[in-house]
Amino acid sequence: MEFPIFKTKVKGVNKRFDLNNPGERQKYFELKAGKEIKKLREYFKEGNTFIAYLLGKKNSGKGTYSKIFAEIIDPNLVEHFSIGDMVRKIDKELKDRKKKKELIGFLERNYRGWRSVKELISTLKDRNTKTLLPTELVLALVKKEIEKKKKKTLFIDGFPRDLDQINFTLFFRDLIGYRYDPDIFVLIDVPEAVIDERIKYRRICPLCQTSRNYKLLPTSKIKYDTKKKEFYLLCDNPDCQGGRMVPKEGDAAGIKPIKERLKKDEKLIEQAASLHGIPKVFLRNSIPKSVARDYVDDYEITPEYVYEWDEKNKKVQIREKPWIIPDSKGKPSYSLLAAPVALSMIKQITKVLGL
Ligand SMILES: [Zn+2]
Repeated sequence: MEFPIFKTKVKGVNKRFDLNNPGERQKYFELKAGKEIKKLREYFKEGNTFIAYLLGKKNSGKGTYSKIFAEIIDPNLVEHFSIGDMVRKIDKELKDRKKKKELIGFLERNYRGWRSVKELISTLKDRNTKTLLPTELVLALVKKEIEKKKKKTLFIDGFPRDLDQINFTLFFRDLIGYRYDPDIFVLIDVPEAVIDERIKYRRICPLCQTSRNYKLLPTSKIKYDTKKKEFYLLCDNPDCQGGRMVPKEGDAAGIKPIKERLKKDEKLIEQAASLHGIPKVFLRNSIPKSVARDYVDDYEITPEYVYEWDEKNKKVQIREKPWIIPDSKGKPSYSLLAAPVALSMIKQITKVLGL
């Protein structure tokens, strides 16, 4: 399936922005999508909401796009709701006797399925990343979490996760009390070559767990280890003492260990795209090099960072160069930064909502 290319280049707009800087990012959005942002803010102020289901491969940036949407439109009225985070939170609650009792009580009242509540609790405890939780259980847990919150626009991340869950999206709104609110599928297309390098070059701070990328998203502090003859990133999170960032175990293998999962995700996206009765928004991360100039501005493209050690001045020299990867058809392509992809999402959602 080929996703359409979205044009983020605006005729007559020649100003450049540093999209990693929050202040400049806000200006970028106001300039390129000011009209749509105003409409969406009004829509929310009038008490309207919507539900967006994010469908993309693992590591495709689902959380990032919805967080930028919230940041730009209204952080108080828009929320990224991750099923994975929810389950991890419940894992923690199971260690607390009182909370565990509460959860069991809730499930006894709100769950109907083929497994007993006792079995469910042990499934939750013994679950690994490969086993999927039963749909009935996921839905009951979502209901429990959403009931605790004030009504907001939600970006659901992690549901539907399997083919047989796609149909459930029709009843999802009823279940969580959003009955008449519009819902949307947000489909995300990211070349596997991008996901591969996002994993391979990922670096984590051992002190605060901040995650960056050696090649694509370094910190402001790049150092050189003269003994090991290698460059490394120092954490620059202002709340952290600044740990030497390290790769996570297994990351060097890139997408190899998750190939099966990616194939399954791809199938899910294709199925979702062919479902009738729900509007769809298409987010495309890559753009063929040959046409990039007509569609996007160069500062919207993800650069690659390369380092050299300046022995004389004892300094690391940093150079930016275009990062070129093959897209799913093998065409040499650029990968867009998160902001222009989120921009296309803002424009498409405004249109789908008929604003
Ligand atoms: Zn840190």
